[in-house]
Amino acid sequence: MAAKRRAGRLAAPAGAGVGFGTPEAASAAQRRLGKTANNVSAPGQPDPAGGRERGRVREGAQPSLANHNGAQAPAVDPAEAQATAYDERRAARFRLRRVNGHVSALERVRKCGTPCSEVVGVKVTAGAAHYVGLSSCSSIWACAVCQATIRQARSEDLENKTGVWMRAGNSLAMATFTVSHHEHDRLKAQLNAMTTGFRKMQQGRRWQKFKDAYGLAGLTKAIEITHGENGWHGHFHVLVWLREALEDDAATERARRMEDELYAMWHKAAVKHGLGEPSRAHGVRVDPVRRGEAGARDLAKYIAKVQDKDTGKTHNAAMEMTRVDLKSGRRKSRTPFQILDDFSATGDAAELALWNEYEKATKGHKALTWTPDLVKELKKLLKEFGQDDDERTDEEILEEERDGEVAGFLSNRAFGRYIARHLTRDHELLQAAKSGGWLAMVALCQSWGVPDEDLFRSPDQGRRAS
Ligand SMILES: [Zn+2]
Repeated sequence: MAAKRRAGRLAAPAGAGVGFGTPEAASAAQRRLGKTANNVSAPGQPDPAGGRERGRVREGAQPSLANHNGAQAPAVDPAEAQATAYDERRAARFRLRRVNGHVSALERVRKCGTPCSEVVGVKVTAGAAHYVGLSSCSSIWACAVCQATIRQARSEDLENKTGVWMRAGNSLAMATFTVSHHEHDRLKAQLNAMTTGFRKMQQGRRWQKFKDAYGLAGLTKAIEITHGENGWHGHFHVLVWLREALEDDAATERARRMEDELYAMWHKAAVKHGLGEPSRAHGVRVDPVRRGEAGARDLAKYIAKVQDKDTGKTHNAAMEMTRVDLKSGRRKSRTPFQILDDFSATGDAAELALWNEYEKATKGHKALTWTPDLVKELKKLLKEFGQDDDERTDEEILEEERDGEVAGFLSNRAFGRYIARHLTRDHELLQAAKSGGWLAMVALCQSWGVPDEDLFRSPDQGRRAS
């Protein structure tokens, strides 16, 4: 069955495992993608898949364009509008996962979203639908689908902890660390040197003095990566946990002094580890997090950045990920998922080489790191406030997303053949199950040509059939 599944997939010809570094390989990949893309984006062309719902599929392929062309009347109900925006972002993430299924440099990521059991189930909870029986890569860097779920849970946990920290009479500051970078810098070397430099910076006597002087309880570091005219730009967003709460002006003054000292230490560390010299203007920036509502706003901004602009249920991420802002100078600075998205639209081998470089360079890096003492202290503090610590692993977070009532199942063979080969169908099936349950699921599958014997109400039925 496994061999059959592989054969049935569009993706992963020999050599896909090492990425499409050459123009020939990239254009071969694009030809395969183009085949798929024709199914979903070319009105008036013959539909090679014989799908009867081309219009629907096309909408799903470019989820947010309709809004920006003004072709769709704006939804009036804010809750409904939010739900629609969420669905659109999710559709974009599913589409990018399918694209990456063809071209990822990482085997596990290529397999994400393909069947790992005999039957594939759809589960429905309040307001959402999920698959069971599909493999998850749990990559917080390279997978548009997995990273969104993991980052959402991590940011909720971070928000929870900062809230408790402030209520206990402490304070926070936000710091950004960057280095100067150049067009031909390789991301892997840059990231490795930055993380090593940052770690070493916290080991000297000078750091200990700094810690004592400012009542520093610890740091939470998030890595963010963009790519622009000067090449890869890895930078750290660091939440600085401070014991003493100060009034506005005093907090600002403290942030300035911390910035000076951190800059001196970061400059030394960066130069020592072969990185470009950080500029005084951008190398380190420290801002106090204000108390009360203003503080919550500061933090929300910070957390949005932690999410790499591409995820989250509350802010406008779909615009970043989809094609709407192509002409608005986005080339100056793109997130990695925008690069993947641009590759899927253009088939440009250079874009794919960048994306694959990013995938390989980030593998093994933790997106979010906490200093160990801080973890212990926050755990205690949460307990005092009667709250639970979120100790789930990335895999556990993804696992728990799969609660809900079973709407129905289909055979893995049918999933591979009628759904996984298309860029948008897996998301469309979830939407159908969410709004119309089993009957809607069956109707949509039938419209795609899925034989009735591949559709089941229970997994047992499916096992008997296969
Ligand atoms: Zn994944």
